[in-house]
Amino acid sequence: MSTTDETDTSPAPVTGRLEAELERLLAVESFDPPAGFTRRHPVENDVAAAAADPVTFWADKARELLNWDRPFTTVLNDANPPFYKWFEDGELNLSANCLDRHVAAGRGDRVAFHWAGEEGERRVITYAGLLDETQRLANGLRSLGVGKGDVVGIFLPMIPQVAAAMLACARIGAVHNVVFGGFAPSAVRERMEVSDAKVLITVDGARRKGRTAPVKAAVDAEMGDLKSLERILVVEAVGAAGLGGERAPMTPGRDVWYEELVAAADPVCPPEPMPAEAPLFILYSSGSTAKPKGILHTTAGYLLGVTYTYRTVFDIDPATDIYWCSADVGWITGHSYIIYGPLSNGATSVMYEGAPDYPDFDAWWKLIDEYKVTVFYTAPTAIRSCMKWGAEYPDRHDLSSLRLLGSVGEPINPKAWLWYQQVIGGGRCPVVDTWWQTETGAIMISPVPGVTSTKPGSATKPLPGFSPALLTEQGQPLSEGVGVLVVTQPWPSMLRTLYKDDDRFVETYFSRFGPTTYLVGDAARLDADGYFWIIGRIDDVINVSGHRLSTAEVESAIVAHEAVAESAVVAQADEQTGQAIVAFVTLTGGRVGDDAMVAELRDHVAARIGKLARPKRIIWADDLPKTRSGKIMRRLLRDVAEGRALGDVTTLRDPAVMAALASKVAEAD
Ligand code: ATP
Ligand code: MG
Repeated sequence: MSTTDETDTSPAPVTGRLEAELERLLAVESFDPPAGFTRRHPVENDVAAAAADPVTFWADKARELLNWDRPFTTVLNDANPPFYKWFEDGELNLSANCLDRHVAAGRGDRVAFHWAGEEGERRVITYAGLLDETQRLANGLRSLGVGKGDVVGIFLPMIPQVAAAMLACARIGAVHNVVFGGFAPSAVRERMEVSDAKVLITVDGARRKGRTAPVKAAVDAEMGDLKSLERILVVEAVGAAGLGGERAPMTPGRDVWYEELVAAADPVCPPEPMPAEAPLFILYSSGSTAKPKGILHTTAGYLLGVTYTYRTVFDIDPATDIYWCSADVGWITGHSYIIYGPLSNGATSVMYEGAPDYPDFDAWWKLIDEYKVTVFYTAPTAIRSCMKWGAEYPDRHDLSSLRLLGSVGEPINPKAWLWYQQVIGGGRCPVVDTWWQTETGAIMISPVPGVTSTKPGSATKPLPGFSPALLTEQGQPLSEGVGVLVVTQPWPSMLRTLYKDDDRFVETYFSRFGPTTYLVGDAARLDADGYFWIIGRIDDVINVSGHRLSTAEVESAIVAHEAVAESAVVAQADEQTGQAIVAFVTLTGGRVGDDAMVAELRDHVAARIGKLARPKRIIWADDLPKTRSGKIMRRLLRDVAEGRALGDVTTLRDPAVMAALASKVAEAD
């Protein structure tokens, strides 16, 4: 069934009717692009050009969208797969593409970031202002001995200096290694050690929900004896007052205040022309499936991927849109769609330091109203939290400025998709469910808003220039059904290797199906319309009596029950059926997990998917283990379900969650 959404123009349903309305919409399979949405960037030509010849398509886009210091003459060097090179003999500077070209075109006064602090502070950072700070910091970094190819660690909260820090590295050809501000200093140390970082840029203290944590002192305790680390640059973000009376400790000769360095630096730093394949950054993946991998991206291909997909997927008009991505810069989403994609396109973004639930559960919606945000990009985990808190919080604010909504990070349950579309988007905004990875650098599968009909829970179709495909376990192409997701052609923004570990790079991504087929690590389903449904990691496919079920589909069915807030499903070895389904379920406030509820949920899943999909075991969980980027860590749940020792837990957000679950499971057994 396909329908033009009848609720297009009506306001978000009031909370009382919401549950019934979502229930009704769950039966709608496909939503046509909302009638009121007008696309600004046509894609028809791109689709045709990319289908005809993807390499030429990317070459044309590289000339159209980027400013080159030295034009490239070769496009793709595929002589030594999987070590591909793009635009090899070309040269450009990434910060010049993100800043100088907009300022030179007379747009220096345009806002790059509206920065909002969690205590209500506001700052406006223009393109000209960011260029000035970037040049000064670039010179400052040089004065600390940083040169081309040197690694600079960045461990900062969501403050404007983080953008300048990344861009200053790019300006002088240094390689940045950003670590999510919420990590413990020990994780930072490991990442600095492995990458031989020469300088670390950090902060005196960080604020979170009204509290201030000393960061510099903790960094000192961990990092003091790291040999490669020569200098530490410290942003004074909270000051003596924030730290209980004294400024952060500084070691003479090693530590420098950011503000002093920038103030004293020469304001002019011409951008360094960089070879297209010069390393740009190292970024560690979130660690949902294994020990985090140090993913290496290079300059021109990465910039092209994010520049093109940003304008295509978010349909941005840099002159009028106000864009906000709620991710942290410490993840690939922050790199590609807070910093490089928006700035390269000359867009205006909101950057928010705080949490969605501080000072109250409406913090985000208040900002959308205040800044008249038009395009909002967030993650399913956040949407599920907002659902839990209730529609009354968004209902307090005028969200009518929104024209487009995006999601990234995990499969989004249809119910969460619908809640987002109805309550936040008022039924009038296209929802783009964007599938991609740290490794892909840029969005690869996503609806084109205004063009692609959407099916809640499906990331829909590949964007022009990308070639994801499904294979059987044996490597045969699949045009419909469940299979292993791969990418059959190299793409400009692909990772080039795992830092200093070419062997693990080849082993992880290019051993199963050979050196020219990129193994994604996710399983997916292709439907009869050619839509991709990401169903989780390869290991997340559950085989019950020979039937292949996806964790995402079973979870979506469970979450569709009105008593359920969140669920994670894993497989457990089973003598009878090979594998059996174990469901970890968080109920909404006030609901009790008793035998009657177990029976009800099992029936509910049977009615939606089939008896085979009924969970054999249901474990009530107050909370689910998540990575610091908010993804459910199913591998740890598998360990718990099967009574094994837990695997790598270093990127777990709250270790107490696992302890609580393990003891609960032990009790029940
Ligand atoms: P690690 O590789 O260390 O386990 P990770 O895979 O969680 O960490 P990321 O690169 O941040 O680290 O996440 C990419 C993965 O997130 C994808 O492979 C996919 O499993 C999931 N994902 C991202 N976006 C979507 C989406 N729109 N729909 C479904 N899954 C998604
Ligand atoms: Mg991954």
